[in-house]
Amino acid sequence: MLLKRGIAVSPGVVQGPTLVLGLEDFRIPHQFVSVDAVDTEIARLHLALEAAGREISENEQLASDQLGKQYGAIFAAHRQMVQDPKLVGEIEELIREKTYSPEFATSRVLRRYAQVFRSLGNPYMAERAADIRDLEKRVLHHLLGERREELTQLTAPVVVLAHNLTPSETARLDKKYVLGFATEIGGHTSHTAILAGALEIPAVVGVGHLVTDVAGGEMAIIDGTRGEVIVDPDEATLSNYRDSEKRFRSMAQRLRPLNSLPAETHDGTRIQLMGNIEFPEEVDHCTDRGADGIGLYRTEFLYLETDREPTEEDHYDAYCRVVSAFNNQAVIIRTLDLGADKIPSALDNPDAAGPNPVLGLRSIRLSLQNLPLFKTQLRAILRAAVLGDVRIMFPLVATLLELRQAKMIVSDVVEDLEDAGVPFRRDVPIGMMMEVPSAAMMAEEFAQEVDFFSIGTNDLIQYTLAADRSDQNVANLYRPGAPSILRLIRRVVTAGRNHNVPVTVCGQMSSDPKFIPLLVGMGLRQLSVTPHAIPELKDVIRSITVSQAEGIAAHAETLDVARDVENYLRSEIDRICPDLVI
Ligand code: PEP
Ligand code: MG
Repeated sequence: MLLKRGIAVSPGVVQGPTLVLGLEDFRIPHQFVSVDAVDTEIARLHLALEAAGREISENEQLASDQLGKQYGAIFAAHRQMVQDPKLVGEIEELIREKTYSPEFATSRVLRRYAQVFRSLGNPYMAERAADIRDLEKRVLHHLLGERREELTQLTAPVVVLAHNLTPSETARLDKKYVLGFATEIGGHTSHTAILAGALEIPAVVGVGHLVTDVAGGEMAIIDGTRGEVIVDPDEATLSNYRDSEKRFRSMAQRLRPLNSLPAETHDGTRIQLMGNIEFPEEVDHCTDRGADGIGLYRTEFLYLETDREPTEEDHYDAYCRVVSAFNNQAVIIRTLDLGADKIPSALDNPDAAGPNPVLGLRSIRLSLQNLPLFKTQLRAILRAAVLGDVRIMFPLVATLLELRQAKMIVSDVVEDLEDAGVPFRRDVPIGMMMEVPSAAMMAEEFAQEVDFFSIGTNDLIQYTLAADRSDQNVANLYRPGAPSILRLIRRVVTAGRNHNVPVTVCGQMSSDPKFIPLLVGMGLRQLSVTPHAIPELKDVIRSITVSQAEGIAAHAETLDVARDVENYLRSEIDRICPDLVI
């Protein structure tokens, strides 16, 4: 049994056979073969080994001819391995004794060899582990042939283990077959994590070294609530997890009545609890839980779902689907937050990715440099606004000039639509994300030029603490409870109050129950959150009074270390809602 701990990013507990990505995007479809088939399967193994051996010999010859004998020797070592009677004997034994399929047996044996090489602690030997992985890939390729199953064409349920999944790979996961996933890298607010929540697929990220130790096909549990991955669980663990699955379900059941109740504090102050969405399909996740509209619609995911550039009609159709579900409540459509971090192909110029995409041409910067792209989206938003209470929000605004430019483009689009005689709404409120420290510092000035603010703590924390939001190596720095973050939030709330500009928090911080008393106590009356968190957040809101929350915020703001702030808030939430933490 192998247990790995990581960051829980999408709740729920699932178990199923593993599909390991990282070597190649295919899974081993059958772990076992029938006893009667053992001899035929062993013959199939030999055919594959012979084919792999021939391929390696050809490479050996090519490398020797063109580069010299010493290079050919690299392949000679590979060839000797596929012909090594001891190694082949071990694979055969697993097929014969344990009725493993040749694919599974090959993977098992070669991965064990690779692990031994890696554990010798010698860089030369560790390199040999990479050679063995190469060999495994080659033999599996011959064994599976046309039967390779790729991530996008699965035919049976699996749990996916991967080094990383890009946002677009995650966006395309088929929920019918992908029960859950775990990745070696990634942080709490990485876009992959946010998407897992959106798709409601249990997920754990940032588990560290994992994929090379798992052959694929073994059973695994993904606990997206506690942040654990267990490969080859023993019976006691399985039964433990069945219990925790039950607890998770019973908490969901206990919270279900809250779906139809308002997010109102114990003393009657109404908090607008809105939903964050990435796809129009998520609208039901919000309406079912009684969300007060959409506080953040991340429209860039329209680009991540397909390989072609969305047209104005694609945008319009998607927005209409969302807006018509909320015709009496606000739908805040954020303009494209694209960049090389999410979709490199969105940039016409490949060099535009820049040396550091997170600090480069992304988001509103990209829109302002790609006006046709920006205007297409704005036209669709203004047209969909006829159907409901639509608002436009600009992401990653760093300077007043950017905001003014973006607003000017909206005015241009208004004129274009007027000239074209297309139905649209001209008085759509315009707001901005507060997610760059420079903007938060200038909140008083910005407040005079926008209709609303929405604090994006995911990026605000990343940029304030100079800690990448998806890098677990700096997760100790990346903390919503950092006093500097509390001060920036306070600054934005004050500017909003001074200028009558409503302020929302839409970063993941507001989806974490322990931060709710703090945010309410700091004066926030609107929060936009991951839909699945709505019931528990309502539970917290309905359990506190405003003055209690103000007391908690006042104390938290006196603490000067993030860890102390978060520990204090955790102890308060345990006291306020003792049944919430499972
Ligand atoms: C944020 O940065 O907090 C935010 C909500 O935007 P995103 O997570 O899409 O960057
Ligand atoms: Mg952001």
